[in-house]
Parts: sequence; C-alpha cells; structure tokens
Amino acid sequence: MRLENLFLSNSTHLFKQLLETIKKHNPKISEKEINLIKKSYELAEQAHKNQKRLSGEPYIIHPLNVAIYLAKMGLDINTIAAGLLHDVIEDTIYNEEYIKKEFNEEIAKLVKSVTKISLVKKDSYKEKLNELKAQESIENLRLMLLASIDDIRVIIIKLADKLHNMQTIKYQKPHKIERISKEVLDIYAPIAGRLGMYRIKSELEDLAFEALYPKEAEKLRQEINLSKDSLENYLKKIKKILYSKLKEAGIESQIDSRIKHLYSIYQKMNKNNKTIQQIYDLRGIRVIVSEVNDCYSALGIIHTLWKPLPGRFKDYIALPKPNGYQSLHTTIMAPDGKPIEIQIRTFEMNEQAENGIASHWLYKHNLNYKSLKSKFQWLNILKQITLEYQNKNKNQWEVSKEFFMNLQDELQSDEIYVFTPKADIITLPRGSTVLDFAFKIHTELGFHCKSALVNDKIAPLSTELKNGDKVEIITHPDAKPSPIWLKYIKSNRIKQKIRNYFRKKEEQEIIKEQKQKEEITKPTEIKIKRKPSKNPQEVPIEVIGGNFDVPVRYAGCCSPVPGDKIIGYITRGRGITIHRTDCSQLPKIEDDRFISVKWEGLTEIYPISVEITAKDRQGLYLDLVQVITRTKTNILKATAELPKEQNGTMKATFLLEIEHLDHLNEILESLKLVNGVLEAKRKN
Ligand code: MN
Repeated sequence: MRLENLFLSNSTHLFKQLLETIKKHNPKISEKEINLIKKSYELAEQAHKNQKRLSGEPYIIHPLNVAIYLAKMGLDINTIAAGLLHDVIEDTIYNEEYIKKEFNEEIAKLVKSVTKISLVKKDSYKEKLNELKAQESIENLRLMLLASIDDIRVIIIKLADKLHNMQTIKYQKPHKIERISKEVLDIYAPIAGRLGMYRIKSELEDLAFEALYPKEAEKLRQEINLSKDSLENYLKKIKKILYSKLKEAGIESQIDSRIKHLYSIYQKMNKNNKTIQQIYDLRGIRVIVSEVNDCYSALGIIHTLWKPLPGRFKDYIALPKPNGYQSLHTTIMAPDGKPIEIQIRTFEMNEQAENGIASHWLYKHNLNYKSLKSKFQWLNILKQITLEYQNKNKNQWEVSKEFFMNLQDELQSDEIYVFTPKADIITLPRGSTVLDFAFKIHTELGFHCKSALVNDKIAPLSTELKNGDKVEIITHPDAKPSPIWLKYIKSNRIKQKIRNYFRKKEEQEIIKEQKQKEEITKPTEIKIKRKPSKNPQEVPIEVIGGNFDVPVRYAGCCSPVPGDKIIGYITRGRGITIHRTDCSQLPKIEDDRFISVKWEGLTEIYPISVEITAKDRQGLYLDLVQVITRTKTNILKATAELPKEQNGTMKATFLLEIEHLDHLNEILESLKLVNGVLEAKRKN
C-alpha cells in the first residue's frame, strides 16, 4: 500500500515537472493549452489505471516520461499531448475517433501513427509464429515511417518512447532485451543521427550497449574513470585560459568540456583496434557564443593560443552537414602534447546539434516538409524507401524482409560527403561509387549515366568515392544500364532498381520473341530452358525454345562476350555454336538450324583484343596502359607498332580480360579520351 502511494505521488510529481518544463520553453502558454495537457494526462491515467509496467510501477509513469522528454526538446502542445496519449489506442478501450472528438484531429493522427497493428492472430499456425512476429514488427516500423513522411513528429514521439523503454529494459526477458537492443542500435539510433538528434542517439546507444554487452560496458566505464579526474582537471585549465582570452576580446562564451559517450568510444576502439589510451579525441571542448561572427573570431584566438593540427579544421557553419549540424571544428595541440578537439558554435546551433530536427519546433522555424527536407537529406531517402513498398503485397514475408534490408542498408554504414558541381553536399554510405551518386541525385541521371568526372578527372563508373570528392556525371540519351552495374553499385536499393529494369526488359523481349515465333510455329513449343549444369567449362547461355541438352561453345571467328547480340547455330554432331549476330562467318543457309540464345550470367572472363590508333607522342603508351588499369582490367598481352617517322601514327594492340560488353565499351570510351587517340576499337 505504501509502495503504491509512493508511485502515485511520483506520477503527480512527474506531471508537475512536465508543466514546468512546458512553461520554461513557452512562458506565454495559454490557459487553454494547459488545460489540453491536463485533459490528456487525465485520460491517459484513467485509461491505463489498471496497467502496470514490468517494473511494477503504474503504467502512467511511461507516457509521462515520454511527454517530459518531448517538452524538454521544445515540441509543441499537440505533440506533448500525443506523447501522453501515445499508448492509449493500443492498450486500452479508447480509439482514434474518441481522441479526435475529445481533443483534435492532429493529436488523434499522431497517436494513431505510433500505434502498432497486430498481424499475429490467435489461430496462427505455430510453425509460422516467429515469422509472423518478425513480419509484424517490420510492418509496424514501415507504417510508422510512412506516417512520418506526412508528419516527422511521429518519429520524434517514437524515439522518446524508445528512450524510456530502454531506460527500463532490464525488466524484460533476456531474448527480448537482445532483440529490442539490437533494433535500437541498427534502426532507431541511426535514424536519430540522420535527423541530427545526437543527444537521444547517444543515450539510446549507451543504453542498448549496456543491455547487450554489460561486461564490456562495465570494463570500459572503469577504464574511463581511471583517467577521468586528471582529464577533467586538465580540461578545466584549458577552459579557464580560453574563457579569459575570449573575454579580453569582448566575446562572451560558455565553455563546456566533454568525454565521448561510452558506445562511441567502444566503436572507435573496436574499429581501429586501439586501446583507450590511443584514442586521442576522447576529450573535447565546446565553445558556445551568441553570434555567428563570434565563432570565427573565437577560432582565430584559439589558433593563436595553440597550434592547430593541419587538415583537421572543418567549417560546418558555411557547409552544414546533411543532418543540419552546424559548428566549427578544429584540433589543437594542447600544452601536454596531446591533441584536443574544439567545437565552436552559437547557442542555436548547439540546440540543433543536440535535438536536431526537433529544435525546429523550439525555434519556430518554417516547419513545412519541403523546408525540412532541404535541411535533412535523409527525409528524401525515407520517402523513397517507404513509398516503394507502399503498393507491394504486404502479406509477403519476402517483401517485408527486402524492405527491412534496404532500410538497414541505408542506416548502417558510415556516411561520406561529396559535392555536386554546384557545391551542394550529397551524403552517401561509405563504399558508394560514381553510379550510386548518379542514382542518388536522380533515377533518370543514373539510367543515362555514361561516365563521370571525379575531381575534374575522367573516372570509371565503378570508382569508389571519398569524402570531399567533387563529382560530375556525364550522361548520354542512348546510355542505359548494364548488368555489370550490379557489381559497381553499393546500395541494395539501387541494385533492386536495376534488377527490376532488367526483369522488365527481359519480359518484353520474351514477349517479342514469342510473338515472332508464333508467326512461324505453334505457340506451345516456346519454352525457356536454363542449362542445368554450372560447370565452368561451359558457357553461361540460355537456350530459348526447347530442351537442348547438348554441348555449347563459342565460335572462334567472332569470339562473343556477354552483352553481344548472339545467336546459336546447331552444328552437325558438335552441339550449338554461339556467334555474334553480326558475324561475317555466320552460315548463310539452313535457317532451321538457328536458335535463339541469350546470356545467363556474368561469371566468366573473356580475352578480347583492342586496337588503338593514335598520333604518337611522348608518354602516350603509358597513358593508354593507365587508362586501362584504371578500369580494373587485366592486360594479358600488349604489342605496339611504332611509327617510322617522328609524330607518325602508332598502332597498339592490347589483349584484355573482359567481363562484359559494357565493360569493353567503357574501356573503349575511356581510351578515346586520351590525348592523341584517333581510334579505339575491338579487333576482330
Ligand atoms: Mn510506449
């Protein structure tokens, strides 16, 4: 009984705290708005009256904590009310209509959007139960993200909900702790990061890290504590010097020092295989000033006090990160001989660095989706990923899995920043290539991508991009995707796009061929037969039009490579020979011996000769070799006929390992761009 009272007073206390927090951010709040919050609290308390959290506390503690977190970030009254009511539809007898009637449509919509749907029915087959549960959780995630496209506050409420659930996760069963924590590390924390909400991101990460790896977390905490005191004392001294120097120059500042959060230290140690002593940016100083101008003045003063480390200065004020983050970063060599990172920003930038997209409500920025989208590039990706799956069959487990994989794919890897020719910043996952970039800008740009300039130099489509690269895509109306692109592209989502393109094209071709055949034969005879054996001596060819379990070989006269237009010729007793359709040696008669064939895979490498005619000059040969090597092609043999007279015409022949016709074309196109080259072609 006494315990219950304690909890009850706890919830009253929490509600008071909620009202105080709201008033702090919004001193002019109206009586009407306060009443709306009170009413939401009363309904939530009434609705959850008989429910308890796993911790034994009354359920109302949870929505109160969620609402307080939202209020701390400065969100609007409707969002805070929705925070209080967020579990009402899911767990109690009240529905969306009721909330709409008693409160308003906006609150009802927000609450509905964070409410889970249930796919697991009572009579679900036992064998399918785990699959159904997994699908249910993905489907809920997808619906929540879909709703966020209309109103990003849905994600913000969900993140606050996750945060409080993670704070009390120890009461869950072990297998649930593992599943929920992993989901937080894989999905929710990265989403928070993409929206610039670094504070909630690091809180979520540390909680999930401790839940998943309690021993490692404890060990790391002890190691940090060992050096914490001396570290803090040291930072104090630096702060004192800096503060007085800035004051002398007339700059009022607030200087904070910080130690990285637990999980980011753990990741850094793991990634680079380092000990805690070897991580030099464990500590950092943050200088917060009033005006943007003061940021740059402070930077000048810092660089005269201590030597900056070359190459470490970053101006995210002039060029904000794609999640809206703004700040100046520099690393200086501190008097103890160890580097310290210093971040300089205004108060508003600091608020934005902590709460990201949520701070836009606090500062009453333009909140329409278009303006948010221009500041938070991830919103575009979110839209693409979720809308792509809107019309697909949602009851298919395969479809759910594919959606989840693509989402994870977009969220997991580190990001790099590259520039368009107009100096717009584009973010891509690390490992992305020129092709990923082209598709990211626009699907049409990707589909007609021919080559590219990376930092003003011609670069193959497969080039992996680095931070800070400037990329310009060169298109051609006739350019179209090639199967080899699947090897160059990093993003699974874009790969899927290319596969769909080929699937469609293939279907069209089959229909076309079928129609052609129908004109001369009975329609029922048309079948596609994939060669059953994958023996690498064999050719990756699909024979169309029946069962041909006979040997297949390439014609020596025209040596076709995948991508070439080809045709099969049924020889007498030697199986099928594959020719290029434009082969001059192709037998002209006995039409009934021809058979349609097509390329099946890209597993082989084919030796192909390439002939180059060029005006000779110094260094020409080396340039040719370099261009070929840059396309990651092996040269098997190379010969050159040097001209007799000076500056005459040189002929060079390279025997190359070619994977695909488009690969060959790419090499030929690159060779043609070399200064002096008159012609580059495939040698017959
Ligand atoms: Mn909840």
